[in-house]
Amino acid sequence: MFAFLLHPEREKSLLRRHPWVFSKAIASVLKLSKQQAAAPQLSAETLADASLQVKRSEVEAGELCQVRDSRGNFLAWCHFSPYSQIILRVISFELEARIDRQFFLERLKSAIEKRRTLQNAGNDGLRLVAAEGDYLPGLIVDRYNNVLSFAITSWGMEANYEHIVSALHELQPECYIYERSDGKTRPKEKLLLRRGAVDYTDARITYNLCNSDGTPLPASKQITEVPALPSSGADGAAACDCAKVPVSEAIPATLYVKENDLVSIPIDVKDGHKTGGYLDQRQSRLHTYELCREFKALHGVGPSVLNCFSYTGGFGLLALKGGASKVFNIDVSAHALEAAKQGVVWNHLDPGRCKFIKKDVFSYLREEVQKGTKFDVVILDPPKFAESKSTLVTACRGYQDINRLGLQLVKKGGHLLTFSCSGLMSEELLQKIIADAALDAKVDAQIVATLRQDRDHVVSLPCPESFYLKGFDLIVN
Ligand code: SAH
Repeated sequence: MFAFLLHPEREKSLLRRHPWVFSKAIASVLKLSKQQAAAPQLSAETLADASLQVKRSEVEAGELCQVRDSRGNFLAWCHFSPYSQIILRVISFELEARIDRQFFLERLKSAIEKRRTLQNAGNDGLRLVAAEGDYLPGLIVDRYNNVLSFAITSWGMEANYEHIVSALHELQPECYIYERSDGKTRPKEKLLLRRGAVDYTDARITYNLCNSDGTPLPASKQITEVPALPSSGADGAAACDCAKVPVSEAIPATLYVKENDLVSIPIDVKDGHKTGGYLDQRQSRLHTYELCREFKALHGVGPSVLNCFSYTGGFGLLALKGGASKVFNIDVSAHALEAAKQGVVWNHLDPGRCKFIKKDVFSYLREEVQKGTKFDVVILDPPKFAESKSTLVTACRGYQDINRLGLQLVKKGGHLLTFSCSGLMSEELLQKIIADAALDAKVDAQIVATLRQDRDHVVSLPCPESFYLKGFDLIVN
C-alpha cells in the first residue's frame, strides 16, 4: 500500500476536505505494510525508515493510495493520476473505508436517491452522479429516459470500471448503459477514448475503444448488441436474460427527453456533446419559460427571443412553450440545429416562429448590432471559455465581448440571460465583466435574478470548482 506524504504547508486544503491534491504538494511516497497502513498515525521509526521510500513511478495509474500529512497522520484514500496536475483525487476520508464494489454501489445509490424529487417533477433527464459533487471525482452519470450515459475522466474511476457498470445496472435495471468517455480531458490524462453501448454482462475496459477523433478502434471489440431490457420482451413479459437487441434499436439516434413536464428536448447520446445534452440549464430554461409567459401576459404578444449557442434548442423550446412570438437559434453545429428543428415539430410547437442559423455567434451578434436589430430576450449560453487559470484573462475578454454585443441587441425593458460555465469564473467576477460590458455598450442594466446549475448538479461544499455554472437575468433599462 502506497502512502503519499504531504509538505507541511500543503495540508490545509485536504483538512478542509477539498478532494484534490496537486503534484507540488507531495513530499515523499512510502510503501507501507498492511499493518502500517491500518494505523491512523505512522510511528517515528516508520517515517524515518529510508527503505520504505519509493519513487512515484512505482505507483500504478488509478491505484488506491493513502495521503498522510507530514507527521504521518492519515488524511484520505485517493486514486493516483500520474499525468495530471491533480495527482491524487480523494475517494474517502475514512481510514476504515473499503473501496470495493459495495462502496461504489452505496455511493451511487445515495447519489441517485437525492434526485428523486426532480424526477417526480416531470423530468426524464437527470444528472445522477455529479463527480466531485457526489464524492466520485472523475465520474459523470446522466440519465436520459431509459438510457444511462456516463463519462469517466480519471484513472481512479477507470480502475473501478467494472464495479461502476455493474452497480449502475443493479441500481437502474430498467436502463441501457452507454459510455461517452471521449471528452477532451481524457487525452490529457493519457486515457484512451472510449464510447459505445455497454453490455453489463460483459463490461470490459478494453471494449469500445476509439481513436482521438472518435472512430472505433478495429482492434477493440465494439459492442453491437446489448441485453434487452425486461420491459422490451414481447407481450410485456420479462425478456429472458440472454435476449439481445442491436444497439441502434435499443438507443435511437435522438431521444426526446421530458423537461419540467413542459417540453421534450432532443438528445443524441451517441453523437451529441458530452453525455448527450446539457441538463445543468434545466432551471434556467424553466426561468425562460416563465419570463416569456409573463411577457405575453403583460404585452398581449410573446417576446422575440435570440437563443445564442442554442445546441439542440432547449432554451428555444421553453421560450416557445411560454409563448415567444419568434425564436432565433444560433449555433455552429449543423447537427445540433437539425435536432433543434425536429424538436420544435416533436413538441407540436410552431416551426414558422423559429429560425435556425448556423453561424459563429460573435459574427452574428456583430452583424445584427450593425443592422440595429433588437430582441425582447437575448440568451447567451456559451461553451467554457476558461479551460485553465492561464486562459482566464483571454476568457474574460470573450465574455465581455459577447455580453457587450448581447446587451446592445436587447430592447428597452427587455432581458439578457447570460451564463458562464467556467469553473474558474466566480459569480462576482462574472458580474464585474458584465458591468464592464454594460459600460461599453452604454446601457443601464440591473440583475433581476441569479441563475445557477440545477440541483441535480450537486455542489460539494469544500470544492468551489463544482459550482461551475453561473448566470444572471438582467433587465435592460
Ligand atoms: N444552451 C444549450 C447548451 C449550449 S452548449 C442548451 O441549453 O442545451 C454550447 C453550444 O455552443 C454548443 O452547441 C456549440 O456547438 C456552440 N458553439 C460553440 N462555439 C460557438 C460559436 N463561436 N458560435 C456559435 N456556436 C458556438
